[in-house]
Amino acid sequence: MKLKKYSLGIGDRFAHQGKAQLSAIIQAKEAGVDITPVWNKSYREHQIIGSKPADTRRAADAAVKATGWRDPYFVDADHIGMKNVDFFLDSSDFFTIDVADFIGKPAAESKVDTLAKQLSRYVGSWSIPGIDEKVTVNKEQVKKIVGKYLLAIEEASTIYNHILSQKQGESFAVEVSMDETSSSQTPVELFFILAGLAHRGIPLNTIAPKFSGEFNKGIDYIGNIDQFTREFEQDVAVVQFAVGEFKLPADLKLSVHSGSDKFSIYQPMHRILKKFDAGVHLKTAGTTWLEELIGLAEAGGEGLALAREIYKEALNRYDELVAPYLSVIHIITGQLPTAKEVEKWDEEAFTSALRHDQDNPYFNLHFRQLLHVGYKIAAAMGDRYLRLLRKNENVIAKNVSENIFERHIKPIFMD
Ligand SMILES: [Zn+2]
Repeated sequence: MKLKKYSLGIGDRFAHQGKAQLSAIIQAKEAGVDITPVWNKSYREHQIIGSKPADTRRAADAAVKATGWRDPYFVDADHIGMKNVDFFLDSSDFFTIDVADFIGKPAAESKVDTLAKQLSRYVGSWSIPGIDEKVTVNKEQVKKIVGKYLLAIEEASTIYNHILSQKQGESFAVEVSMDETSSSQTPVELFFILAGLAHRGIPLNTIAPKFSGEFNKGIDYIGNIDQFTREFEQDVAVVQFAVGEFKLPADLKLSVHSGSDKFSIYQPMHRILKKFDAGVHLKTAGTTWLEELIGLAEAGGEGLALAREIYKEALNRYDELVAPYLSVIHIITGQLPTAKEVEKWDEEAFTSALRHDQDNPYFNLHFRQLLHVGYKIAAAMGDRYLRLLRKNENVIAKNVSENIFERHIKPIFMD
């Protein structure tokens, strides 16, 4: 199984929406756009919910079976490191190897020298097809970049070889991610990172650099869109160039860990992908869970009551819920509605505040972000929550599919 040119990472915290998610991808296929679904769930999510990768695998397989999907699909061990890779081995066939913590840590001087020497043909001025300005780097700059990233490259190699030895001939997709770090990588840095990963023999399918700007969970991009666009374009060009230079897999593509809902950069991304005839992996976060809440609220009655109750509890446990997500959410607490206010909200008021429709004056991105990290509360409710999911399956599924198809697939993969 191979990833298609376009692939979409979808999270499903409670493993009940696989079919609804897949139906959005089927809708795209019927419209002539092939997308590979990849179900992603991180160790953090599994810990908070108390689920296991085998649950994700079961839900993905069941969705595929129920819809008669015959194309490739994957289950992603999202953001793994040596300390938790084993947890995912049996159930995953896509590994997002996260080496961000190793960036900037000193590697052995002799190894840095060796790799820098092997890359010495890139000292000087040269061009990358598709980029107007020439790249000019001197010997010291190459050495500095190699020094900054070598330990991360070596760690990626260690983890990749561990997976390879355990998977015993089974094929799997490999992503290296460097996005969960404080500063973004430049296109030139990305070029040398790819050189190092190729040099260690990692058959890379996707690479997730950190782009400039903020990619908070479940809300739009915050940052300079022109700057992002330039950087994304250069990164796409770098990846295509690196494939030829370093004999990386021909279908290597960028992975954008979007955190979901980066609506304002979808159009520029789409334009650049078309221009370069390039593929992309767009990883979204667990916003399907918010569509479950929207569906419950829309259903009214006990569904709406439960949605209100979850919000009230989320307010009470604010610090605890936001703690694991501090670097990827941006909530202004003064903008959060009080529990008393929400108690009075009807279906319309609740869904207007939560659904990511920026044209709706009642949309509240702070409310949305708090609920995004509030899934722990629903997890603790156990069957009380899951029973209502099943009971309101139709209204929830409609929201889940529509969200993926209309707000994500259409703007980024279709015209
Ligand atoms: Zn990420």
